[in-house]
Amino acid sequence: MNQDQHIPYETLARFLDRRIDEDEKASVERHLQDCPFCRQDVADAQAWRAEQEAKNKPAGWRRFIPWL
Ligand SMILES: [Zn+2]
Repeated sequence: MNQDQHIPYETLARFLDRRIDEDEKASVERHLQDCPFCRQDVADAQAWRAEQEAKNKPAGWRRFIPWL
């Protein structure tokens, strides 16, 4: 990946899903160190995913939390 280019969303999605190979992961991480824009994209995507996961929990799920 060229360091002058931002990370494509599709690559970020695979990075977040850990469906990314080691070389690509290393170059994404290197880019993120230098690029506040892509770091923000990752943070936004993570927040969005956390929100979706929270919404998609089965209604009865919370009842089990006190036991954990
Ligand atoms: Zn970038």
